[in-house]
Amino acid sequence: MSLLKDDFRHQGLRRKLVDHLRTKGVRDEAVLQAIGRVPRHQFIDDSAFLELAYEDKAFPIGCGQTISQPYTVAFQTELLQLAKGMKVLEIGTGSGYQTAVLLELGAKVHSIERQRPLYLRTKERLAAMGYRPNLIYGDGYKGLPREGPFDRVLVTCGAPFVPEDLLTQLKPGGRLVIPVGEGDVQRMLCIDRKPDGTFEQRDLGAFRFVPMLGNTAK
Ligand code: SAH
Repeated sequence: MSLLKDDFRHQGLRRKLVDHLRTKGVRDEAVLQAIGRVPRHQFIDDSAFLELAYEDKAFPIGCGQTISQPYTVAFQTELLQLAKGMKVLEIGTGSGYQTAVLLELGAKVHSIERQRPLYLRTKERLAAMGYRPNLIYGDGYKGLPREGPFDRVLVTCGAPFVPEDLLTQLKPGGRLVIPVGEGDVQRMLCIDRKPDGTFEQRDLGAFRFVPMLGNTAK
């Protein structure tokens, strides 16, 4: 796969995007710097949307899916409170943009995508960009028991409920960030598994995601 060049113009637009995210309340410098390093325009297949690559907007990425809005990516990533070397499970690889941000922060990323065309294309794209995640074509409701438990689990599609398997695959001290709710709007939940094994949940407000697909989806 050939990637678009990343020139000074894109770098300038990225700096502006990072400034914008700062004014919207994103504080974590490591997260802002990671977003400042990932060439988001290289994740957009349809050239009609290229001009908007560094706007704070979501875009179609094929298969009826979208690349999340940069603010949402920043918000979820900030909530993860990542440290280098942490094992992270992402549900909903999509374009791979969020995956790249996690990798820039030094996480070891396993990411599951339910739609095969997206999985295949993103695998090729991230490899061409030099990123090395473990990408899986599969069903995110089940998590990835063979690689777990995880320090962090991040769901990037709107889940109708909190899948039990994602909770059980969290390490004690681990954290699950998941938008939950049926319909257009979800609540962003941050669920911590405490060292004694119990769970503690916080609600961080309303967000909009494409729905988490069930088993009938292609
Ligand atoms: N993190 C992505 C966001 C993509 S949108 C990005 O940065 O581009 C959410 C993605 O979740 C879509 O690609 C969708 O196909 C995928 N998805 C939906 N249901 C899923 C499931 N059950 N398991 C894994 N992925 C799923």
